[in-house]
Amino acid sequence: MQAFLSLPGQRAALAQILALALLAGPEACAQPLTQERVAAQAAGVYAVRVAALDAAGKLDPAAAFTARVRRVAAGLIAQAARDYPDTAAWPWEVHATTDPDQDADSMAGGKILVSQAYVERLELSDVELAMLLAHEIAHVVLRHNLHELEQALALDPAWAGRPLEALVDAVDHDAALMARLAPLNVAQEMEADHAGLLLAAHAGWPPERLARYYHKMMRASGRPYLDSDDHPAPARRWQAARALAITLAAPVPVPMPVSALQR
Ligand SMILES: [Zn+2]
Repeated sequence: MQAFLSLPGQRAALAQILALALLAGPEACAQPLTQERVAAQAAGVYAVRVAALDAAGKLDPAAAFTARVRRVAAGLIAQAARDYPDTAAWPWEVHATTDPDQDADSMAGGKILVSQAYVERLELSDVELAMLLAHEIAHVVLRHNLHELEQALALDPAWAGRPLEALVDAVDHDAALMARLAPLNVAQEMEADHAGLLLAAHAGWPPERLARYYHKMMRASGRPYLDSDDHPAPARRWQAARALAITLAAPVPVPMPVSALQR
C-alpha cells in the first residue's frame, strides 16, 4: 500500500476505491472489516485503473520492461508464499505504466503498479528493483491497508455507521484523520522496508545491494532528511536498510566445540 506507497500513486489508488465502491452502493463500516472485503474493493479499483491507463496508452508500453518487472516480482511473490503461507493463494497482478504521476504502489490483495519512468530515472538495477517491489509486496502481505482502516475506526468509532467507502476516502483526504493516522503510516513504511528487505534476501538477493535502493532514493529526493506526513525521511530509511543489511551479511558465529574448550 502505501509502499512506496503512500506515495502519491497509492494515495490516488486508494481514492479511486471510493469512486468504484460508490458504483456498487455503500456498505456500512459496521459490517466486519475483513481482508477479503478490502481486497475485493481494491481488485475492482485496480481493474478500473488498468483499463484507464490502457485506454490512454500508458499501460505496459514497453514489453521488455514489463517482462523484467514481472520476472523480478515472480521470485519475490514465490518467496512471499513461503514466508507468509496464508497469502499463497492471493491473485497477484503486476503492471507497468508510463504515467508520470506514478512511482510504485500496491493495493490490498496483491495489485501492483510500477512506473517505468521512476525506475529509469533512478537507474535501478535488478536488485534495486527487487527492493522496490519487495517493499510493495511487504505492504500487501502485512495487510497494511486493512490495518489502516481498522485504526481509523478505532480512532473514531462514529465511522462504523457510515459507508466504508467514505472511510476509505477519508484516510486519504480528511486532514484531521490523516494527521491522527500519520504515526501508523510512518510505522508501516518502516515495517515494509524491513520486511521487504528480509523477503528479498530470503529470495536470494544480496542484502547490501538491496539496501542501495534506499541510497538512490535518498539521492533523488529533494528533502532527504525530512519526514513527510506519512513517510519517514529517505535518509532514515537508507540508514535503517543499511544497518539491517549489515546484520544479515554478518557471518553466523560458529560455536566453539566443547572439546576445544577442555584443552
Ligand atoms: Zn510504502
